[in-house]
Amino acid sequence: MFFDNASTTKIDKELLEDIVELNEKFFYNPGGLYSKGREVKNYIEDCRNKILSCLGGDGKFVFTGSATEANNLAIMGVLKKNVRKLLFSMGEHPSVYNTALELKNKGYDVEFVNLNKFGVVDIDDFKEKMTKDVDFVSIMHVSNETGAINDISNLVSVAKSINKNVIFHSDGVQAYGKIDVDLYDLDVDLYTISAHKIYGCKGIGGLFVKKGISLKPLILGGGQEGGLRSGTENVLAIDIFAKAVVNAKRDLIKNVNHIKFLKNKFLEGIDNFNIKYSLHSFEDNAPNIISISFDGCKAETILNMLNDNMVYVGNGSACSSKSIENRVLESMGVSRSEVEGNLRISFSKDNTPQEIDKLLICLNECVEKYLCKVR
Ligand code: PLP
Repeated sequence: MFFDNASTTKIDKELLEDIVELNEKFFYNPGGLYSKGREVKNYIEDCRNKILSCLGGDGKFVFTGSATEANNLAIMGVLKKNVRKLLFSMGEHPSVYNTALELKNKGYDVEFVNLNKFGVVDIDDFKEKMTKDVDFVSIMHVSNETGAINDISNLVSVAKSINKNVIFHSDGVQAYGKIDVDLYDLDVDLYTISAHKIYGCKGIGGLFVKKGISLKPLILGGGQEGGLRSGTENVLAIDIFAKAVVNAKRDLIKNVNHIKFLKNKFLEGIDNFNIKYSLHSFEDNAPNIISISFDGCKAETILNMLNDNMVYVGNGSACSSKSIENRVLESMGVSRSEVEGNLRISFSKDNTPQEIDKLLICLNECVEKYLCKVR
C-alpha cells in the first residue's frame, strides 16, 4: 500500500493505452525536415498548447527532463541579467534550495525568508527582505513537506510593488492537480510543474515562462525548445504529460473530494490511538499531505516497521550520519524530537478507504510495538 504519493504517482493506465500506436506514428525525429518529422513537431506543439491552456497565463511552456531541471533553469536562467539580489524561502524543495546555496557560495547576494508556524512564508519577514534591489524571487506554491499553501498572488503583488521588474518564480510541482492553479491569477513570471506527481511519467517536467521574460539555457545543443532546452524531445513522455495535465484539471474537484475523505478518515482514526502525536499540516493545506510526528518515536524505525508490512510512507526528515534534520519543519519551529518522529503520509486518487483502515491498524501496531521496546 503506497502512501508516499507526494514523492511520485503511478502512471494512469488510460494514459498508456495509445502509447504503442503513438510510437508507430511518432517515432520520427521532431527536428527532421521531412513531413513525418514535422508531424511529430506539430504533435508536440499541440501537447504544449494543451498544457498552456490548462495553466492559464500568457507565455510559453518549455519541456525539461524533470521539475528539478525546470527549477534550475528558472534560477540559473535569469543570472545573465546581472541580478543584484535573490530571495528564496526556507521551505523550498532541494532543487531550489540547493541551487540557491550554490549561488550564495559563488558570491551572489542570496537571502532566505523564514516560514511561520503554519509552514507558509512569514509575510513580515518577506516584506523586510524584499528590498528594491531584489531582482529574483523563488517561492514555492505548495510545500512538499506539509502541503502548506503560499499566497503566491499576494507575494507577487508585494514584490512587484517594491521592484516592478523583479522576476518571480514559483515551484508549482505540489500544487498543480491538488489545488486550483491559474497563472493569470497568480501573475508569476515562471512556474514549474512535474509529470510524475500527477499520474504522468518520471523524467519530464516543464517551466512556464511569461511573455517578455528572457532566459539563458542551461543545456546547449541543437536548439530544441526554442533554444531553451536542447536535446531531442521525448514525444511519448510529452504526450502522457499533456494528457495528465488535462485530466488533473478536469478531475480536480472529484480527486480533491476523494482525497479529503481519505485524509479525514485517517485523522479520525489516529484520534483513537493511545499515542500522542502532533500534526504539522493544517486544515487549509493541500489535502493530500499529512506531516505527522509520533511522540517519542524515531520516524525511520516506524517507517521500516511499516515497510515490513508492505505499507510505504514517506520520511520527512533527511538522516545524516550525525543527526536527523528537516530544514522545513525546523524553520516552522517544530521541536527536535518531533522532527525525529516525523512521517509524511500522502494520498493519491487511487488510494481506497479500505487501505486507510489497514494503514491505521498497521500504524497503531507499529507505534505501540516500538514504544514497548523503547520504554
Ligand atoms: N519541487 C517540488 C516541490 C517537489 O516536490 C519535487 C519532487 O519531489 C520537485 C520539485 C522535483 O521534481 P522532479 O522529481 O520532477 O525533479
